[in-house]
Amino acid sequence: MKYDFSQIPAQGDKNASRLRLRHCGRLQFLKHAVDAKLGGHNDSFAELIQVHRQLGKETRDSGLILSINAHLWGAVFPLITYGTIQQRQRWLPTLLAAEMVAGHAITEPQAGSDVNALTSTAIATENGFILNGHKRYITNTPIADALVVYARLDDKLSAFLIKSDDEGVTFNDTPQVSSCSTATMGDVLLENCSIPADRLLGKIGAGAMMIQNALELERAFIFAGISGIMEWQLETVINYSRERKINGGHLGQHQAISHKIAEMKLRLDTINLWLNQCANLKNNHKRLTLASAQTKLYASEAFLQSSLDAVHIMGASGLLEGQQMNGLVNDALGSRLFSGSSEVQKNMIAALLGTGDAYKR
Ligand SMILES: Cc1cc2nc3c(=O)[nH]c(=O)nc-3n(C[C@H](O)[C@H](O)[C@H](O)COP(=O)(O)OP(=O)(O)OC[C@H]3O[C@@H](n4cnc5c(N)ncnc54)[C@H](O)[C@@H]3O)c2cc1C
Repeated sequence: MKYDFSQIPAQGDKNASRLRLRHCGRLQFLKHAVDAKLGGHNDSFAELIQVHRQLGKETRDSGLILSINAHLWGAVFPLITYGTIQQRQRWLPTLLAAEMVAGHAITEPQAGSDVNALTSTAIATENGFILNGHKRYITNTPIADALVVYARLDDKLSAFLIKSDDEGVTFNDTPQVSSCSTATMGDVLLENCSIPADRLLGKIGAGAMMIQNALELERAFIFAGISGIMEWQLETVINYSRERKINGGHLGQHQAISHKIAEMKLRLDTINLWLNQCANLKNNHKRLTLASAQTKLYASEAFLQSSLDAVHIMGASGLLEGQQMNGLVNDALGSRLFSGSSEVQKNMIAALLGTGDAYKR
C-alpha cells in the first residue's frame, strides 16, 4: 500500500501540527494493524511498518512521527486491548480518524524513568473518580482532546481517560523540548478533576502492566517512521559525496567518508531487521518485551550516530540554519529519552537476561 502525502498541510504552529495529524487520519493512515471489526484495515504489523517508513521518508518530520505514535500506542491500542465494548464504540471511530487527538501521560516532574515514583492520585466517588496530579513532557498535550492518564487509586496504578474539557483539567503548551519540535508537548494539571466511572480504562491496579504494554509497542514501532527519514538521510549524503568535489576528486572517494556512509547503511538495515523481528513477534502474538527494548536501544543510538555522521559529511553546509539534516541530531537526542531512555533499555535487557533487579519503565 502506498499513500499520497502530497496534500499534507505545511509545518507551522500547533494548529498546523493538529492539521497534519488530522490529514493522516483522513487518509486512513491510523488504521493499520487494527482489526476490521474495530474499523481498521485488518492488515499486519509488517504493513504498518511499511507505510510509516513511507511517511518518514516523504515528510522527514520526526515530530509528526512522534505525534502519531503517541496517539496510536498511547491511546488507540490501549483502548483496543483494555477498553470495554462501550468504550471502544465511543472512542475508537474518532481516534482512528484523528478527529480526536490523544496520547498518554505517564511522566511527572519528579518521576521520569522511575514509574514507581508516580504520585498522581485518583479517589473513587459515588459517580466516578476525582484525580489530582501533575504530568510533564506529554506529547500532543496542546492539541489533544483526550489523554490516557496514569494515577494511583488506593495506591494501585490505574489508567483513566481524561478529556481536555473535563472539570479541573488544564492542558498546557509548555514546557516544550527542542527535540522533534513539530510535535507539540506540555504539562497536564489535574486539580480535583472529576470524571465519570466509565473513564476508568482497564482494571483498577492494571496500570503498570498497561504502561509496559503501551511502551513496548511504542519502542517496537516508532522507528518505522524514523527509518524512512534515515533512508532519506543516507541517500542525501551519498548524493552529496558524489557531487562535492575535493582534492581533484569527489568527496566519497575518501575512505574516511565512504566508511561513514557504509556504517550508516549498516545501521539503517539493522534497524529494519529489528523492526521486522518486532512485527513478526506481534503478528504471531508473542511477547515483545526483550525485542522492543533491543530495537529501541539500537535504533535510537544508531539514529544519533548516523545523524552526527551525516552532518559531518556535509561540512558547514550540513549546519546551515534551517537545514533539515542538523535538526535530526536534536531529534535523535530526544529519541534516546522518549519511551524510556537508553540506560533504562539496557537495565531492562540485562534484567531479562537474569542479571539483577526487576526493571523499571
Ligand atoms: C521528545 C519527548 C517526548 C516525550 N513524550 C512523552 C509522552 O508522550 N508521555 C510521557 O509520559 N512522557 C513523555 N516523555 C518523557 C520521557 O518518557 C522521559 O523523558 C523519560 O522517561 C526519562 O525521564 P526524565 O526525562 O525525567 O529523566 P530521568 O529519569 O531524570 O533520567 C535522567 C538521566 O538518568 C538516566 N537514568 C535514570 N534512571 C536510571 C537508571 N535506573 N539507571 C541508569 N540510568 C538512569 C536516564 O537514562 C537519563 O539519562 C517524552 C520525552 C521526550 C524527550
